[in-house]
Amino acid sequence: MKVYLSKAIRIKGKEWSIACDSTNSKYYSLVFYSHAHSDHIPRKLPATDIISSLETKSLLKNFTSNFSEGRFFEDYKIGETSFKQQSAGHIIGSTALKIKSSEGTLIYTGDVSIRNKGFIEPFKPDKCDTLIIESTFGLSQYEFPKYEQVIKETQESIAENLDNNTPVVLMGYALGKAQMLYHAFSHLSENVILHGANYKINSLLKSEGIKGAVDCVSYQHAKEKGLMEKEGNWILFAPLKSGRDDFYSYLRNKFGAVLYAFSGWCISSNYKYRMNVDYSVPISDHADFSELIEICESCNPDRIYTIYGSNIAFAAELRRRGFNANPLSKQTLLDSYF
Ligand SMILES: [Zn+2]
Repeated sequence: MKVYLSKAIRIKGKEWSIACDSTNSKYYSLVFYSHAHSDHIPRKLPATDIISSLETKSLLKNFTSNFSEGRFFEDYKIGETSFKQQSAGHIIGSTALKIKSSEGTLIYTGDVSIRNKGFIEPFKPDKCDTLIIESTFGLSQYEFPKYEQVIKETQESIAENLDNNTPVVLMGYALGKAQMLYHAFSHLSENVILHGANYKINSLLKSEGIKGAVDCVSYQHAKEKGLMEKEGNWILFAPLKSGRDDFYSYLRNKFGAVLYAFSGWCISSNYKYRMNVDYSVPISDHADFSELIEICESCNPDRIYTIYGSNIAFAAELRRRGFNANPLSKQTLLDSYF
């Protein structure tokens, strides 16, 4: 199998070729979408064979045009080659792809996490010959603390604020991070409010029958009903932005709300001040540095291609550890022929 970059991540076998997480709508005979984050999907679906999970398919229906032209498959086979998905543990519906043929076994992780967060199945690394792995947090300073411990401490902190009638705003991306936050924190208050962006995705998950939604009212509704003035112990789930943003300044000034930012980037020491938030919590829907290494060790492949984020530095680190690793770049195509 050849792996290269040409307007998309491409994998080519003797009788087939597949494009992974292509953001362009160009025709490929076969495409794979690992999850529905906007940097992994096109605006317009190509009229072709598409491998994705059922959840991702439902999200694509709402996020892309030309949906009816795509032919969706959960598993796929061409001749002796099989294409199978497994949970990538990143967000709702995210999957990794395992390709098996007489030329060997390849795993493409997409965005990936091996942490058990209690509501999506973590990625389970498996022996393969070729591994294509993301490296968003591929630098050694990105080590996240234990998930359960961070959640417990944050639950206590939120509960204390709510007990003091201080409302809290929990900020994270509306698809992915938000469902993780609902799972961990929504039970702490009876007054759960969702910002418009979160409410839209939440309604979509409910209408498509995808798990991860929360019972709530919209910010618009809460505002119209005066709920936020009446109750001092509400939780608002909202997108992650700077505390200097007009909306968040308003919530702070009017209701004395405190802001929690949830991001893997919180590991950077000045993040909290840069974002002007009251609390910064290092949880992520990606693997941290050690977990990326752990995936590579467990898969124990003959060659590794790193993609996204710190892919050059991460490949260099893997080579230091004895792996045959390279960042996936245009050069890879030349290297694979010569
Ligand atoms: Zn993602």
